Amino acid sequence: MPAVPVVPVAVATAVAAAVCLAGLVVVLVRLPPTPRRAPVTTLLGSVAAWDLLQAAPVLLDASEPAWLGPARAAAMTGLAVALWPVGRTLGDVTWAVRRGRFCALWLTASGAAALVAVVGGDAWSGALRTAPGPSLTVTDGVSWDRLGLTVVLGAAWFALAQARRYAVRRRHGPGRPLGSVLAGAALAFVTAAATVAEPDALGGTDGAPLGASVAALLAADALVRSGLVAVLPPRPADALDLLPPAFLVTDPAGRVLIANAATAALTHDGARPVVGEHAADRLPAPVVAALEDDDSRRLVTVRDRYLLLHRTTLRDRLGDAAGAVLVAHDVDDLVGRLNAAERARLDAEAERGRLEAQNVALLLELSSTEAARERLAEDSVRDPLTGVHNRRRLGAAIDGALADARRDGRHLAVLVVDVDHFKRVNDEHGHAVGDRVLQALAAHLVASGRAVDSVIRFGGEEFVVVCPGTALLEAVQRAEEVRCGVAGLRVPLRQATDHPEHLGITVSVGVAAYPEHGGTAAELLVAADQALYAAKEAGRDCVVSA
Ligand code: GH3
Ligand code: MG
Ligand code: MG
Repeated sequence: MPAVPVVPVAVATAVAAAVCLAGLVVVLVRLPPTPRRAPVTTLLGSVAAWDLLQAAPVLLDASEPAWLGPARAAAMTGLAVALWPVGRTLGDVTWAVRRGRFCALWLTASGAAALVAVVGGDAWSGALRTAPGPSLTVTDGVSWDRLGLTVVLGAAWFALAQARRYAVRRRHGPGRPLGSVLAGAALAFVTAAATVAEPDALGGTDGAPLGASVAALLAADALVRSGLVAVLPPRPADALDLLPPAFLVTDPAGRVLIANAATAALTHDGARPVVGEHAADRLPAPVVAALEDDDSRRLVTVRDRYLLLHRTTLRDRLGDAAGAVLVAHDVDDLVGRLNAAERARLDAEAERGRLEAQNVALLLELSSTEAARERLAEDSVRDPLTGVHNRRRLGAAIDGALADARRDGRHLAVLVVDVDHFKRVNDEHGHAVGDRVLQALAAHLVASGRAVDSVIRFGGEEFVVVCPGTALLEAVQRAEEVRCGVAGLRVPLRQATDHPEHLGITVSVGVAAYPEHGGTAAELLVAADQALYAAKEAGRDCVVSA
């Protein structure tokens, strides 16, 4: 390649330094000082310093002081050191470098590089041809610092490639930005290697600072853009401490490996178990028993609180027991609430039972009241002596039968039956015998009639028989049957039934029928009563039709 003039390269390198410095300012102003910011600022600062240290002597046309070589070595080492944490963070978003560790590494590596340059510069100047030569000019030969840088950049590139593979395989981080970091690192490596291997490769000028600038800018951009600089992954242990249940991991010998903050509730003294001590020394017996029991789930009380323990065996990759995981949930409030709910349920059940019993008692009372009411209502329309209906029922009985008869176009007959000379029975045999006569007559009227007939005591020794569907002729026949039947009755004069003395009675019957003798209960009764009167007049013990 034809020789390239060195001044334009120096100008470009100075511009690269300015861009890196601007980037550095933006990062310092805009981003919080997290541990992840340190590699980015180191990257940009180191490369800017290297660029300036390379470009300044050319642009100022000044001779190079003795400290320039070691200073450059320190600056270029900063680039190589910072590439590693940038790549690792992009490959694994859960990882972050510790600020102190990074600073120690950076200072050690840069200091060592500077020292080597100081010592080696004189010691090896005779033994080695120096390359590059004066600033940004490459001469034929090898410089140790540049060789070291090339090796470190190669190693960094390899490490970045591994990180990218890891990120892609595990989907563990932003693989695509890592690609641009890899490309930048490759450029830095190639330009650095060119100054070592082939002086004429870039026309005798030193392109390594420019390559490094591109690499630094790409890496810083990738890390800033991915948003990983501003955030830091929380430590798993911190997350575990926020877990409400107690979380305890022990090794096969029962030593504590992990104990989150909530495990303090499990111990005798309320203090968190210390990693390494034997769990059995700190935990109450029920918890130790649960820890020793394979894959168990049990409810225990520790310091008067209910705890639900869940123990699982931890296994290594070969499937052998590697310890135990114990998770303890405080379920005291839950158990308390369940107990209260159960008590409330039992109370409600008892109350329900009491109300049901009360309800049954009320229903019984109601039904007996209803029965009594019905009995009273029935009693009020019944004659207590004979048991047949009394005249309160008469109107309703005839009206009901009349309505049916009218509707169906049928007949209806009314018989008025009166005991002849009943006064004499009373007078001669006493009221009790008179009552028995009335009972016997009522029983006969009911027994000899049909189910549809109604027998009603009209008053005194007078009965009315309502015969639905019975025409006048038929009614007269029926009246005659009644009269004959009564004539055949024998009413004992004494209470004892086997008493030989009996009394015979006769009745007179007046008959009226619908529609011949009237269309209302009153008309039919008047007609039948008049017929009865006529029967009495005719000498009694006979039937007269109206
Ligand atoms: P007649 O042939 O004209 O019907 O004459 P009678 O004596 O049967 O008629 P009367 O109306 O003169 O007498 C009815 C009697 O019936 C008068 C009364 O003391 C009696 N009597 C009314 N109710 C009862 C009762 O419940 N028990 C008894 N033993 N007698 C009663
Ligand atoms: Mg009479
Ligand atoms: Mg009478």
